[in-house]
Amino acid sequence: MNFCPTFAQTVPKILHTRVEILENVAVAERTYRLRFRVPGFSDIFTPGQFVMLRLTDTADPLLGRPLAVYRSDRKTDDVEAVYLVVGKMTAKLAQLPQKTPLTVWGPLGNGFQIPETENLIMVAGGIGQTPFLTLAEEARKYCKKVTLLFGAKSQSRICCMEDFLALGVEVQIATEDGSAGHHGFVTDLMTPWERGKTVIVSCGPRPMLQAVYRKAVELGNLPCFVSLESPMACGLGICYSCVVEYKKDNGTNDYVRTCVDGPVFDAYRLVW
Ligand SMILES: Cc1cc2nc3c(=O)[nH]c(=O)nc-3n(C[C@H](O)[C@H](O)[C@H](O)COP(=O)(O)OP(=O)(O)OC[C@H]3O[C@@H](n4cnc5c(N)ncnc54)[C@H](O)[C@@H]3O)c2cc1C
Repeated sequence: MNFCPTFAQTVPKILHTRVEILENVAVAERTYRLRFRVPGFSDIFTPGQFVMLRLTDTADPLLGRPLAVYRSDRKTDDVEAVYLVVGKMTAKLAQLPQKTPLTVWGPLGNGFQIPETENLIMVAGGIGQTPFLTLAEEARKYCKKVTLLFGAKSQSRICCMEDFLALGVEVQIATEDGSAGHHGFVTDLMTPWERGKTVIVSCGPRPMLQAVYRKAVELGNLPCFVSLESPMACGLGICYSCVVEYKKDNGTNDYVRTCVDGPVFDAYRLVW
């Protein structure tokens, strides 16, 4: 299997730094876009990687939290993340004004290593669109068609679609309450695609990823890669809080760490 050159590289270099918030604005219901600057970041970033972010000058919460890199600007080294408020850290983060310091380390994880394909289907749910903008930017160079299937609870939770459209990505939407696009689950939008010419990537809550994987199997064992959002504490492979069960080459199962072995995994290798 040939891998696209820019996806195949692995980047072990990690920066650890204190940054200032440049922008932290609401973009949808309970959803915010955060921007900060990390000199040298874009030189070592691969699409699909993430950062750990910790509130500075407080021990509550004590640990950092992982967020996908939504944008990495090559000219300015600005890094953007888009986050949904779900708990302690994200609720506090949403209140922080410009110039507030944050501690950031990254880029982390393996990023996407996607086989060359004509048709790249990105299936995202919840806040799962976040690792796909940088992927779409790269994929445009290798794929004839890039599609984003995005599922949200409601129209009020939809954001970022204009950024994908600006890249020429075809966007299809599903909402659980029918307020926008297809009324139902995002997996309903997964229709038969040509085997050998299609690769599926997915990011979102685990039950959704499992449904996407099942659908990929149903549609003829289409290649399917998933980016996991497993809670994690260090992001560096030390604490083992983010392990998932994985099928090894020798037919046995083992645990792998989402932070360093992932977050992107071949869906056929995970034990669902
Ligand atoms: C590689 C990676 C990339 C991610 N990228 C993004 C992103 O771009 N945008 C974004 O909004 N989120 C992203 N997440 C998820 C994000 O890390 C969590 O939402 C965040 O850690 C929650 O922190 P908190 O302190 O606000 O919530 P907590 O106070 O830690 O938790 C609040 C509640 O949410 C649950 N919870 C926390 N994290 C998760 C999770 N990952 N999955 C399911 N339930 C969870 C807890 O069990 C608890 O019930 C990513 C996760 C990973 C591993």
